[in-house]
Amino acid sequence: MNARRNPSEERLLAYAAGVLSPPQAVVVAAHLALRPANHAWVRRLQAVGGELLDETSPSPLSADALARAMARIETDTGVVTAQPLLNDMPELPEPLRRYALGPWRWVGPGIRVRDVHAPRDGACRVILLKIDPGRETPRHTHGGVELTCVLSGAYATETERFDVGDFEEADAEVIHQPRVVSDDPCLCVAALDGQIQLDGWLGRLMQPFARL
Ligand code: ZN
Repeated sequence: MNARRNPSEERLLAYAAGVLSPPQAVVVAAHLALRPANHAWVRRLQAVGGELLDETSPSPLSADALARAMARIETDTGVVTAQPLLNDMPELPEPLRRYALGPWRWVGPGIRVRDVHAPRDGACRVILLKIDPGRETPRHTHGGVELTCVLSGAYATETERFDVGDFEEADAEVIHQPRVVSDDPCLCVAALDGQIQLDGWLGRLMQPFARL
C-alpha cells in the first residue's frame, strides 16, 4: 500500500482495531469515505481481526452481541445510516455529516475555521479549515500530531501536493506552510492535538492570534 498521502499503516491498524483516538478516527473515516480502495483494505483487516477473535474467545456471546454486530456492519457498509444527519454542509463526506458544527471563525486573511463537535481526546479536537485560493497558512510546526484530509480543492507544501482525499500526518518534526493551489477554496478536516507553533520572529509575534 502506498503510504504517501495515505494514513500510515500503524494508524489504519489502530483505526481498524477501534483503538485510535476519537478525533483522529473522525479524520481517518473522512479519508476512507473518499478512498474506497483504502476502505476495502481496512475492512479486510477488520475481517481478519474478527476471525482471530472468533478463534481465541470461546466464551459465550452476550445476548445483544448479534444486534450490535449487525448495527456495526450496517454503519460500516453505509447501507443503513442510523445516525441522523445534523449539520448544514451536505457536501461533507457521510462520516462528517453526523456532527454538529460551530460557526465559521476568521483566523487570518482568507482562512476560516469551524469546530466539528466530535468527541475530543484531551487537547485533541476536530476542525474544518477553509482557505481561499492562493492563500497560505503561516509557516508552523505542531505541539502534537496534526492529521489533515482534503475534502475539496488542493494545497501544496514545500515538497508535496495534496488533492481531494489525500491525508497528511504532521508532528513536531514537521515545519510546513500549506498553500492553496486550486482555483476554488480548499476545505480540509483536521484533528489537532495542542496548538500550532508559528515559525520565525514574526510568527512568535503573531502566536497569541493563531489559536485555532
Ligand atoms: Zn500543520
